[in-house]
Formats: sequence, C-alpha cells, structure tokens
Amino acid sequence: MPIATVDPATGETLETFEALSGDEIERRLATAESACARHRLSDFAERARLLNRAADLLEEDAADIARTMTTEMGKPVKAAEAEAAKCVKAMRWYAEHAEGLLADEHPAQRDVSDSGAERAIVRYRPLGVVLAVMPWNFPLWQVVRFAAPALMAGNVALLKHASNVPRTALYLQDLFTRAGYPEGCFQTLLIGSGAVEDILRDRRVAAATLTGSEPAGRSVASVAGDEIKKTVLELGGSDPFLVLPSADVERAAATAVTARVQNNGQSCIAAKRFIVHADVYDAFRERFVAGMRELTVGDPMDENTDVGPLATEQGRDDLAELVDDALGKGAAALCGGQRPKELERGWYYSPTVLADVTPQMRIHREEAFGPVATLYRVADLDEAVALANDTPFGLSSNVWTRDEADVERCVRDLEAGGVFFNGMTASHPGLPFGGVKRSGYGRELSGHGIREFCNATTVWHG
Ligand code: NDP
Repeated sequence: MPIATVDPATGETLETFEALSGDEIERRLATAESACARHRLSDFAERARLLNRAADLLEEDAADIARTMTTEMGKPVKAAEAEAAKCVKAMRWYAEHAEGLLADEHPAQRDVSDSGAERAIVRYRPLGVVLAVMPWNFPLWQVVRFAAPALMAGNVALLKHASNVPRTALYLQDLFTRAGYPEGCFQTLLIGSGAVEDILRDRRVAAATLTGSEPAGRSVASVAGDEIKKTVLELGGSDPFLVLPSADVERAAATAVTARVQNNGQSCIAAKRFIVHADVYDAFRERFVAGMRELTVGDPMDENTDVGPLATEQGRDDLAELVDDALGKGAAALCGGQRPKELERGWYYSPTVLADVTPQMRIHREEAFGPVATLYRVADLDEAVALANDTPFGLSSNVWTRDEADVERCVRDLEAGGVFFNGMTASHPGLPFGGVKRSGYGRELSGHGIREFCNATTVWHG
C-alpha cells in the first residue's frame, strides 16, 4: 500500500509520502536506543508529568485531529472527537495509576515461608524499545492504548502505523514531542509493512505489539518468535450478541444497532453475529432491522451522519464479496445487501442485516469489517452458546438476559476475552482488553496491559 492520505468519502488522493530510507531507519533505531537508556531511569512523577502534558495538548487539539482522522479513514467526525476524548482519559488514567500498578510486589509470607525467600520482591522493570504495528480503524486510540502504559513503564515506542493514516501517525509523534518527551521516546516511522521484519529483528528492538488482521499478526509473531521476542496480538473478532428470553428486547435492539455500526462497522469488538432466542426473535428482528434502516449514511464530516464510508476501496470490495457469497448461497437481506445507490462516489456500503445464514457461507466464519450483521434464531441456551463459540475468533461477547443462571452459564462457557451483559463491549483503561483463539493473545489496558512489556524481576536476598 502506498503511504498516502486518500479521502474515503471521495476516493481522492490528497497527499502522498515517501517511505523512510534505510539510513533514516537506522538513525531512528539508534535514537530510540539512547532515549531508552535515559527514559528507563526517569521516575514515575516525571513520566506522569509528561503524559499529563500530552493529554492536555491532545484535548486542545481534539477538533483538528478528529477532522484529520475523518479525512483519512472516514469515521463520522463526532465519533472521531469521542475517540480523541477517550485517549485523553486513558493517558490521564495511566499517569495517575501506573506507579501503583507497577509497585514492587511482596509475596504473601505463606507462599514463601518454607522457601527462604521471605525478603524477596518482584520489581517491574521496562523491557526497552517496543515496536507498535497499528491499524487505521481507531488511528489515535489503538496507538495511545499501547503508548500510554508503555511510556509510563519506562519503555520507548516506535510506531509503524497503517499506510492510509500518515497524517495521524505524524501528529502522534509531534504530540509527544510538544509534550516534552526527550527525542526518541516516541517515533513514528513512515514505512511499508515490508520494512517491519528487519526492524523487528534488530537487536535494539525488544518486543512488538500488533493490532490488525490475522495475516499481519501471523507474520509479525513468526518473526518475533524466531527472534525470541515478546509480542502482544490484538486481531480480528466476530463477537456474538445473544438475546435471551428475559432480555429487555427494546434496549437490546437499540444497542445492537450501535454495537454493529460503530466506527462504520470497522471495529474488532463490534457485535457481528446476533443470536436470538426463538421466544424473542420476531420482536428483536423487527426493531433491529428498523433501527438499521433508519441510520443516516453519508458524508462523515456531517455531524448528523451515523455511518460514513469504509476506510479503503479494498475493504468495501471485501465486504461486498462476503455479502454476495451469502446471498448467492441462500441468505436473505432484511435490509441493505448492496452499495447505496444515491452515493456514487466514495466507498460506502448500506447497513445490512442477513438472515438464513448457514455454515457454508463465508460470513459465518469470517469477520465482516463493515456495517453488516448476521441474524440467527436459536431454540435454547445450549444452541446459543454452541453457535456463539462456532467461530475461529474469541475477542468479546455480549449477552442480554435478566436470568442469573444464564449469566453464570455464559461466564463459564463463552470462549472470549470478555462477556458483557445488558450492554455493548467497550474498552476501559482499568479493565483488561484482548482475546483468545484467533483474536490473538496478551492483554492491553489495566495492570495486565502495562505489565506485558515489563520484565517481572525476582529480587532475592540471601
Ligand atoms: P492489516 O492487518 O493489513 O493492517 C494493520 C497493520 O499491519 C498496518 O499497519 C499494516 O501496514 C500492517 N501490516 C500488514 N501486513 C503486515 C505484515 N505482513 N508485516 C508487518 N506489518 C503488516 O489490516 P487491513 O487494513 O488490511 O485490514 C484487513 C482486515 O484486518 C480487516 O478487514 C479486518 O478484518 C482486520 N482488521 C482488524 C483490526 C482490529 O482492530 N483488530 C484493525 C484493522 C483490520 P500497511 O498499512 O502498510 O499494510
């Protein structure tokens, strides 16, 4: 992919960028190494001061950077503003909590009393230079949710952002520089994905985190595995949304619409498969389909738009292929099922609900990265759980019920990194975020996330 800003609402290329030369990459690696040697010695108060300053600056810039994000990847501008605000919150959260999350651990005496290790502690030390390979769908948030804890832990960051969001990528480096971080603590590398392997193999890079597709994750994890370097992977998802007999169907249907079309449907934690008990199926379907039909699709710069274009032409074509495959094999489109006829320019796709989906259809197993929902009717909870787990992915899950027995069963049996009851999946700085199965491994956010790129060091005194 060329490194370029291409407006998804029009298809027009607005700006193109040269990839960094080999010499420049070498200079950046050397800068990262020397920045790391200093940053790891800074105390938490200094790191918190810098991160809070970055948060303040981002808050001031929110309206401008929101428009940049919308121009580069097409999310509605009001959602882009919300994304910037969420980043500010997460930065302040880590500035406040990192020291406590990484405080020395004193093992409980009963655990070590017979080992002669009564005075031992665990100290969390930084790992070093961490390479972040990031996607375009939440171009600020995906980076900040990695960078805020990494910088607070004393690591330094190299960002390889998606090639279609270069302006946002450059903004991030500028933000951390203006906040006062020493040169090299956070660097954006404008490079194609082909340059990632050599950087990851470089001895100065300690670890990598990647958010994106399965092939990208596999590629980065293979190289890191070969080099015995730590990785965290946050890959795709096809989250189930179960609606059970005791659910508040009205609220469930309204939330289902938001959960499916947030970020123009391009979110790993968007609910994608709607699995509804026969007792409430008709009532849910009617409200859900009506809600999807009512959405305003159009210019993402318009404050009233609910669903903008998909970020890339390829993404729109991939989604259309998935839907066509299902329709060709007997699925029914309850709404949508095609590109909106009135929007000729840009990479739009109509909010779509597919019923009569079978395991023979690709969409049953593949991630639909756009505003397309699949709707299933099930006879009981056993069938709902089996269908929910019948996917290669395991990022999060949503369940609508007021029955305690349903709750216990779903917490026990749903194969996912999260189970959200009577609401939609959302990330919070204080809660771990990540998946199982092909959705990846490791966790972001909370204490779990900040410790991923730490060396948990046993300190023992004889
Ligand atoms: P990619 O996974 O291709 O892109 C994500 C990041 O990985 C980008 O920075 C990309 O760089 C980089 N990358 C891609 N291939 C490699 C590689 N072999 N080695 C190193 N880095 C690599 O996502 P796409 O944009 O192509 O989207 C495809 C699908 O991925 C979507 O339809 C969706 O299913 C899934 N996806 C999931 C996301 C999530 O939030 N979990 C986010 C984005 C996509 P470059 O841009 O230069 O190619």
